[in-house]
Amino acid sequence: MSYPDTLLLIDGEWVPAASGKTLGVVNPATGEEIGRCAHASTEDLDRALAAVDRTFPEWKRTAAFERSKIMRRAANLLRDRVDTVAQIMTAEQGKPLAEAKVEILGACDTIDWFAEEARRAYGQVIPARKPGVTQLTIKEAVGPVAAFTPWNFPINQVVRKVSAALATGCTIIVKAPEETPASPAELIRAFVDAGVPAGVLNLVYGDPAEISGYLIPHPVIKKVSFTGSTPVGKMLMGLAGQHMKRATMELGGHAPVLIFDDADVEAAIQGMLGAKQRNAGQVCVSPTRFLVQDGVADAFTDGFAEAYAALKVGDGMAEGTQMGPLANDRRIPAITAMIDDAVAKGAKVKTGGHRIGNAGNFFEPTVITDVPTDTLMMNDEPFGPLAIVNRYKTEDEIFAEANRLPFGLASYAWTSSSRRAQRLQDEVRAGMLTINHLGLSMPEVPFGGIGDSGMGTEGGSEAIESYLETRFVTRLS
Ligand code: NAD
Repeated sequence: MSYPDTLLLIDGEWVPAASGKTLGVVNPATGEEIGRCAHASTEDLDRALAAVDRTFPEWKRTAAFERSKIMRRAANLLRDRVDTVAQIMTAEQGKPLAEAKVEILGACDTIDWFAEEARRAYGQVIPARKPGVTQLTIKEAVGPVAAFTPWNFPINQVVRKVSAALATGCTIIVKAPEETPASPAELIRAFVDAGVPAGVLNLVYGDPAEISGYLIPHPVIKKVSFTGSTPVGKMLMGLAGQHMKRATMELGGHAPVLIFDDADVEAAIQGMLGAKQRNAGQVCVSPTRFLVQDGVADAFTDGFAEAYAALKVGDGMAEGTQMGPLANDRRIPAITAMIDDAVAKGAKVKTGGHRIGNAGNFFEPTVITDVPTDTLMMNDEPFGPLAIVNRYKTEDEIFAEANRLPFGLASYAWTSSSRRAQRLQDEVRAGMLTINHLGLSMPEVPFGGIGDSGMGTEGGSEAIESYLETRFVTRLS
């Protein structure tokens, strides 16, 4: 496989940055530079802004039926290219090839789903108080969008934003991740090859703060969508607020897993293993705080730790790899600092705890038990292969811990009691809750957080709403 250098897409053309500047892209399994990525400056951004501004009226007027057809073609093109694109993704991001394929095929489903929703952006006719009066709501594309996406799911994070924007008739500038640039560029290429008109969809990379600082306040941009960490999200939300821009924020989490005495422990181990293993834990919905009731605590902790430790960690390209390296070398000191802090405060390392080798960003699947509340890992998102397992006597203690943090993204629970399931539904403060199975992240269901985990959703019919404005018209005939 030859890894491609990544260009910008501006006004329908794949171009180097006007300044000629590029950034290196590193394979996290080897630490070696494998390619370069164009680094946009304001000159490039101005061209992209002019393009989204110019093409918006026409794209908005294009029939939803037509937009939908183009999107479906893009999904099919990407499906045809899945093997090549998966290799590119694994080379730059590290995840096992099989996971990269799942991400890409999932993206195709997302495009298809939004393509269908495009045709159903219905307004309403509201019963009037007087004869002869018609009252209508009209749903209309909000305008050019600026989207910012991170490196953990290079395609999945882009596809939700681009699909919702194109489906509703918005034009868009995507700032995709500089660390994993080539696979999102392949997603964008599928849309271009499928017939998205020049200028409607633009792709840039560069200095994230410089680009967001320029695009968000710019009068052409009418909506902002960001996926990333909570501190950055709060900053960008503030900037969007100052300029009265719509914003969707998909931010960090610290997912609790509530496991009660009456749970099917084996099902919980297997289900949570799959979720924790995914993308080496670099997932905003990764299960993080395992809150286990006494009666099943030993069985769960031992069973989970044994299965987690047995995962085959290695280069995502290699046959049989179950967990790849961390996507960037910043994660290693970040996770190590959390483990050192917890151990110093009395936590116990059940398994793992260290970097593997000294080349590539490999880290052992790690389980830490008896972790005090005042540790870093109990309060900040570990974003890596780190599971915290704490035991509790009562149901109330588990609920209290689950709701302790300001985050509220994903939550997981295991119980065979319908009363507990009802209480979970009523009391767990999270944007998403999955009980006794893994049921998150499909395009047709909401995906988003509450509290410090952000606002708005990137899945389900609600996802379309944030790219639409509702206008009201009343007329007497
Ligand atoms: P970070 O907070 O610097 O960056 C997170 C993402 O935001 C990156 O994609 C980055 O390019 C982007 N970003 C940073 N500053 C920005 C700005 N001013 N304007 C626009 N975009 C900006 O940290 P990081 O080291 O890349 O990741 C660390 C933490 O971020 C993780 O521990 C995790 O909590 C969070 N994160 C969350 C997600 C998610 O899916 N919600 C994805 C990646 C990272």
